[in-house]
Amino acid sequence: MSALLSIKGVTAYYGAIAALKGVDVDVAEGEIVTLIGANGAGKSTLMMTIFGQPRARDGLITFDGHDITRTPTHEIARLKIAQSPEGRRIFGRMTVVENLQMGAAVTKFAHYDEDLARIFAIFPRLKERAGQRGGTLSGGEQQMLAIGRALMSRPRLLMLDEPSLGLAPLIAKQIFSVVEELNRTERLTVFLVEQNAYHALRLAHRGYVMVNGRITMSGGGRELLERPEVRAAYLEGG
Ligand code: ATP
Repeated sequence: MSALLSIKGVTAYYGAIAALKGVDVDVAEGEIVTLIGANGAGKSTLMMTIFGQPRARDGLITFDGHDITRTPTHEIARLKIAQSPEGRRIFGRMTVVENLQMGAAVTKFAHYDEDLARIFAIFPRLKERAGQRGGTLSGGEQQMLAIGRALMSRPRLLMLDEPSLGLAPLIAKQIFSVVEELNRTERLTVFLVEQNAYHALRLAHRGYVMVNGRITMSGGGRELLERPEVRAAYLEGG
């Protein structure tokens, strides 16, 4: 299998502290791959390392066969990897449409009208709120906007860092449904980082479990959900 994104033996440090201790993760074209792990396991760091912040100290990261381990961050963004970061980071003082325009800048607005219509079809709520400032949207609407903005760049790989964070269960479920739908209908490749193991693994083709900077388990999404160790550590009460 040739992976669209391949991470091999990657280490990353914050000062002297190792946050990633030799991580191997592959994401093939058309897959949803989920990474789960507790607070502080290193999930966000792995996502950031793909963008070179922090930069991998050891190991190899390739995208579509190209070594991007040492590629400058601004060049990686041009490679059609889009990210919806943890905490969403939309532009609070800009309107919904202006936020979406920021996503379209990557493609130099080449398909702007078409893409805007598409995002509004996926998230009708954003259309209703088109002129509203991002900062006044609800948490769920902000998450839709962050994903919509990422999609405006027509990514080959969509990376989502904890899209369900802080959302009511029903809203989180809607967000996951949209991700699943995009994957099924458009074959969008998704790398999903989540603490909400149940939903995130259910919709994933494959999953990985990260503990303290290392991958400790991997397998089919639903298969991982069945494992007693996963259930005990990540689904207790869930
Ligand atoms: P969460 O689910 O809580 O976001 P995570 O799995 O995404 O957790 P990371 O945010 O990647 O975990 O953090 C991994 C480790 O690196 C933690 O011990 C964290 O304190 C540390 N860390 C993260 N960012 C920095 C930073 N900028 N400077 C120093 N240490 C950091």
